[in-house]
Amino acid sequence: MTPKEIHDKILVLDSHCDTPIMMRRKGLDIGKKTDIGHVDLVRMKEGGVNASFFAIYVSNKWEPFECTFKALEAFASVYDMLGKYPQLASLATDAQTARALKEQGKIAIFLGMENAGPIHKDLSLLRLFYRMGVRYITLTHAGNNEVCDSCATREKRWHGVSPFGRELIAEMNRLGILVDVAHISDEAFYDVLKYSTRPVVSTHSCCRALCDVPRNLTDQMIKDLAARGGVLQINFNPPFLDKEYSLAVDPLLDEYEDAEAAYAQDSDGSRERMEKAKKALFALPRPSYKRVVDHIDHVVSLVGPDHVGIGSDFDGIEVCPEGLEDISRLPVLTEELCARGYSYEDIQKIMGGNFLRLL
Ligand SMILES: [Zn+2]
Repeated sequence: MTPKEIHDKILVLDSHCDTPIMMRRKGLDIGKKTDIGHVDLVRMKEGGVNASFFAIYVSNKWEPFECTFKALEAFASVYDMLGKYPQLASLATDAQTARALKEQGKIAIFLGMENAGPIHKDLSLLRLFYRMGVRYITLTHAGNNEVCDSCATREKRWHGVSPFGRELIAEMNRLGILVDVAHISDEAFYDVLKYSTRPVVSTHSCCRALCDVPRNLTDQMIKDLAARGGVLQINFNPPFLDKEYSLAVDPLLDEYEDAEAAYAQDSDGSRERMEKAKKALFALPRPSYKRVVDHIDHVVSLVGPDHVGIGSDFDGIEVCPEGLEDISRLPVLTEELCARGYSYEDIQKIMGGNFLRLL
């Protein structure tokens, strides 16, 4: 089989994108081919993508009630879009539905929640979000919350998972919502492995051995995750793929974010500043898409082909790898896996089968 035949035959699943943010903030209509962000249903179809998790994201900076309200707004956007394009895509909550939708030529849209903030400390709300379709929860994001600590904070609040976090994990296990360890601290990671009775996932992280940043997993963490049946879904974000790039891009990203915020406030001369910052950011040579496959290779070398997949983080990242500029470019990964000698069975697992197994 050619790489294209393989790519078309297998069920391709991306376990994380922030496309609902683009719907609300940039007016993205996912049924039309656009140049907004990295994902729409047309570009997914072009990229041979059969299933994708849309993140219901909330910031750790928002007030508790604001978190729940913004989460509801994100749900509403996704439901509205799926209601508008029933011939293109449908909501899915299990593997069987995703497979059936592929047979019908439709895309399966799953829901994940990024940051447990909207739940407050109320397990009834967790059960409600399960009924609304949520099938994984990333316990926190860039801050410590009621559930656990983030890898991004200097001061830790719990040194792992909180007492409420333990209750939350037990109820997620009972319901069948996957626990996502992306963004959480190393101590929280080990608490999750201790408390969860079911396999655990990282829906969008990379390998710290290849790029030493706190968002990535150490070799020992990858081995422990795999020993419990879990899966690491490789993130496409260049600063997580390559340390040299990460060091070079950090100040440029900071300036771009500041300039964007200033532009949003419409202060004098801010447009010029933003364009300059954007130019500098995109002038920096980016790592190739092959670097994503280097991270896949690394996980396979540690724990075999049953514990790795892809979680693009598209629409949540500012820059993309060279050659992987949006979701329509995804077949390059299958081509590269073929070029590196992976079998059909392994490619099927990596490009979606491993994650699907846990749903
Ligand atoms: Zn994230």
